[in-house]
Amino acid sequence: MQKIQKIKGTQDILPPESEKWQFVENTIRDIMHRYGYHEIRTPIFEETALFARGIGQLTDIVSKEMYTFEDRGKKSLTLKPEGTAPVMRAVIEHSLTVARPVNKLYYISPFFRQENPQSGRFRQFHQFGAEIIGSPMPEADVETILLGLDIYRALGLSSFVLKINSVGDAESRVNYKNVLKEWLKPHFDALCRTCQERYEQNPLRILDCKETECRRITAGAPKMIDNLTPAAEEHFRAVLRMLEENDVAFEIDHRLVRGLDYYTYTAYEFIGSSLGAQNALGGGGRYDLLAQELGGKPTPSVGFAAGIERLLMALEAENLLPETALRPDMYIATPGAEGRMQAYKLAQELRAQGIRVETDLLGRSLKAQMREANRNGARLVAIAGESELQAGKVVLKNLENGEQQDVPLAQLGEIVRKMLAPIDSQTATVRAENRDS
Ligand code: AMP
Repeated sequence: MQKIQKIKGTQDILPPESEKWQFVENTIRDIMHRYGYHEIRTPIFEETALFARGIGQLTDIVSKEMYTFEDRGKKSLTLKPEGTAPVMRAVIEHSLTVARPVNKLYYISPFFRQENPQSGRFRQFHQFGAEIIGSPMPEADVETILLGLDIYRALGLSSFVLKINSVGDAESRVNYKNVLKEWLKPHFDALCRTCQERYEQNPLRILDCKETECRRITAGAPKMIDNLTPAAEEHFRAVLRMLEENDVAFEIDHRLVRGLDYYTYTAYEFIGSSLGAQNALGGGGRYDLLAQELGGKPTPSVGFAAGIERLLMALEAENLLPETALRPDMYIATPGAEGRMQAYKLAQELRAQGIRVETDLLGRSLKAQMREANRNGARLVAIAGESELQAGKVVLKNLENGEQQDVPLAQLGEIVRKMLAPIDSQTATVRAENRDS
């Protein structure tokens, strides 16, 4: 029979790769908690209308990348392609802003987009993201940036830049759209077909077109930040000043636009230097008008989302991942069939004390079990022969230095924990160093 394979653009995350993911996810959670963010988990699928309204019909995501299907009740559902619209839907649905005026939420989740798979671009991918729902202050914009930076810093990543821009408030954008269209008019025929379509519907997106000719044309275009209302300009200046106060380096990028009407004020991106074509590590910004778009009350909000696959690729490229593969603390090897039952009970007792214990599940010879212990990277082996067990002891061998000793069963847990303590604190040190550097 033909074997079934995974769907194009998806990945199996196998051990020990999965342990790298856990390491990265644990660091993300740790930093999110330091900043006072609480986890939110929203469903994998939602009503299609949520994304059509919450991301915008004119975006690539909604116009061609969503996994949309009808369920048996003929309802149109979509696998979530991003996290902000579902978070906002949940905040509105559960009236979270009534209980707390500011909600700081984070997520780590898979997302789905039917893009052409390539290095760093998948159809099921993962993002971590954070949202501050309910604050209009520039401090909130900056907090999300500092939070993202701290997560990268905790993982040791430094080869990326922060690009930032302001897309203004609704009024600034209306003005700027007119200024930009007027300026582009004489160049219309030279724009690519897509940008010609964008000209009426969504002219800001012409600025981030990747086509060489479009980029050449827009290089001299008027800038959004020269066309902001006084309020939007003040907000942007406050953000930049606070970044400077916090010693954060940034580049203003006039091409960084979010074409949609409910994106407001700050827009930013973290761009990796070791990633090749798919070099966006993450991006974020303010979306003060999204809550209303989804039927809620006006709720100024800001947040970011960042890819985990690309983060892992960047960490890998720079050799920044510490040894994360899970190793058993000890392996219990037992030569005879008789001893197996007792050895397994012993394993259970030690596991109950928090020790990571492996046993043989294939009825192998003692020699083969010792080989297995080595292959699994066990630190200790307890050889539980029948005669030893009868005498109430095991032979405990330290696989890292070859030393061995007889240990009474009653003291085994305590002795093993003592032997492991320096190793555990070493591992903890590696992690702490990794975080602090
Ligand atoms: P976006 O929601 O498009 O702003 O994406 C935010 C981040 O998620 C990007 O900067 C990438 O790191 C990551 N990302 C987006 N789409 C994909 C994808 N198809 N495959 C892998 N990572 C992605």
